[in-house]
Amino acid sequence: MTEAKIIDGKAIAADLRRQVGEHVTRIKADNNVTPCLAVVLVGSDPASQVYVRSKSKMTSEAGMINREHILPADTAEDDLLAIVHELNEDKQVNGILVQLPLPDHINEQKIIAAIDPDKDVDGFHIFNVGRLWTGGESLIPCTPWGSLMMLKQTLGDLSGKRAVIVGRSNIVGKPMAALLLAESCTVSIAHSRTVDLAERCREADILIAAVGRPEMIKGDWVKPGAVVIDVGINRIDAGLKEDGSPKTRLVGDVDTAAASKNASAITPVPGGVGPMTIACLLRNTVVAACRQNGIEDPAF
Ligand code: NDP
Repeated sequence: MTEAKIIDGKAIAADLRRQVGEHVTRIKADNNVTPCLAVVLVGSDPASQVYVRSKSKMTSEAGMINREHILPADTAEDDLLAIVHELNEDKQVNGILVQLPLPDHINEQKIIAAIDPDKDVDGFHIFNVGRLWTGGESLIPCTPWGSLMMLKQTLGDLSGKRAVIVGRSNIVGKPMAALLLAESCTVSIAHSRTVDLAERCREADILIAAVGRPEMIKGDWVKPGAVVIDVGINRIDAGLKEDGSPKTRLVGDVDTAAASKNASAITPVPGGVGPMTIACLLRNTVVAACRQNGIEDPAF
């Protein structure tokens, strides 16, 4: 068996960001609309800070307006709600993203429910969730949408494929299932109570890992010829640096080296799903801006 093709998320994401940038230039010139994304970060979680920085940088690079609201970790829930309401009312703001996770004293569901569904560029509001499952016009969660794009570029038509998603979160697993069902896949969602997980995974033509456990999916869980999308981002110890300080590295939820011996194609970590998530956020911001201004949705 030959080694799996590596699905280059960085390159696919760069192409999507280029298309977003071109569309922004067009709607600025033709419609006098400059899409604006407001990102709200509560607290100083280092991973969230890194995400927010790259989201802001790429928003600006695509020619859009980027607004950051950085709030202290002890921000009261009511104060955060007040900011969300202000952004909902602000005609210049087209997309609102509240970076998750939020500190424990803030009810995430309450904050998500407060965001105007038409500005909900994460696609987590119950209106967008419902529209996604019922085939309506929605804003689609970025990570599953990016994963679907990579699958379609790799396989073309997904109709009839057997898809297994490991993980049932509202952010990844469940919306991924809705998207694959809409592509006419036969979909199973596995989770921590699934019996015979390895056997379930071996049934998959398309295997999506969204678990949050480093390299949990083993090589022999992958059916020969399957396409594997590794959503996981796990930072693990990697020995010591020359100066004796601890070193870390990122790995996914799949044992990539072993899985590559069976899969026909696989996403790497880093450089797979991660870059697609941000590119899809930019796409959703442009889509939101177009819909709010009566402009046709972009084709990408
Ligand atoms: P959650 O923790 O919300 O969900 C994890 C899911 O995995 C749960 O449904 C859980 O099952 C399941 N699970 C946990 N342990 C096992 C096990 N031993 N066997 C089978 N299923 C198991 O995680 P997220 O969905 O938010 O994220 C998943 C991963 O994706 C993380 O590594 C995260 O960092 C990454 N991620 C990456 C993004 C990107 O841009 N690339 C964006 C978002 C997330 P149960 O429900 O039964 O507890």
